[in-house]
Amino acid sequence: KLLLELKAVDRRYNEGDRKLVILDKADFSLKHGEMVALVAPSGAGKSTLLHTAGLLERADGGDVILSGVPCGPLSDDDRTAIRRNDIGFVYQFHHLLPEFSALENVMMPQMVAGLSPKQAKERALQLLDYMKIGHRADHRPAELSGGEQQRVAIARAVANAPLLLLADEPTGNLDPTTASYVFDALEALVRQSGLSALIATHNHELAARMDRRVTLSQGKIVSF
Ligand code: ADP
Ligand code: ADP
Repeated sequence: KLLLELKAVDRRYNEGDRKLVILDKADFSLKHGEMVALVAPSGAGKSTLLHTAGLLERADGGDVILSGVPCGPLSDDDRTAIRRNDIGFVYQFHHLLPEFSALENVMMPQMVAGLSPKQAKERALQLLDYMKIGHRADHRPAELSGGEQQRVAIARAVANAPLLLLADEPTGNLDPTTASYVFDALEALVRQSGLSALIATHNHELAARMDRRVTLSQGKIVSF
C-alpha cells in the first residue's frame, strides 16, 4: 500500500530569463513503513522535492497523492490541515523555540491540535524518552548539545503521530559519531511507529541503512 505518490511532478523556478527545471515529470512512491534515503549534491533540488511532497509548495504540473488523496486540487487550508496532521518535518537546524523547554517544545504541536496539557505532556515525555533525551526535558534548547537538540526536534516532528516524516539533512550539522547516534534513535522511532520517512542526507553510511536510496537526475527521481 502506498502512502505517498508523486505522479509526473514538475517544479521549475524562473531565474531572470533562465528556467531552472528541478523536477520534470518526476515519479516516486513511498510504501507504508518504508524509510527511503534521498542522496544528491547541494543544489540538486532535495529541499524542493521535500517541500513539494510535504505540501509546503505546489507542483507546477502533475500531482502529489497522500494516502490516496490527490492534493493538487485541494485549497491551501485543506493542505495545511493535512500537513499539520499527517506530516512531520525535521531540518538540519532544529528550529526549536528558544524560550521554551524541550518538553514544552514537544507539547506545543499537540496543544495546537487540541490535546489537553496532561495528554500532551504524557506523550511528549514518552517521545523524549524514546529519543533518549527524557532526562533533559526541562532544559531549554541553548542548554542542549547539537545532537540533543536534534533529538528533541525529531520528537517534536512526530508529536502529532504523522504518517509521513520528511527530513532535510537531519544529521548534517553533527559530527559522525553524534550523527550515527541521532540516526539510531530516529530509525528506532520510525520502525516502532510504522511511519514512512523520506530522508535527505549526504551521509552514505546512513543512507545504506535505509530500505532504498534515490537521487535526482535530470529532473527525475531515480533509484541507485
Ligand atoms: P538542495 O536542497 O538539493 O540543495 P534546493 O531544492 O534547495 O536544492 O534548490 C535546487 C535549485 O533550485 C538550486 O539551484 C536553488 O538555487 C534553486 N531554488 C531553490 N528555491 C528557489 C526559489 N524559491 N527561487 C529560485 N530558485 C530556487
Ligand atoms: P503551524 O501549526 O506552526 O502554523 P504550519 O501549518 O504553518 O504549522 O506548518 C506545518 C508544518 O510545516 C510544520 O511542521 C512547520 O515546521 C512546517 N513549515 C511551515 N512553513 C514552513 C516553511 N516555510 N518552510 C519549511 N517548513 C515549514
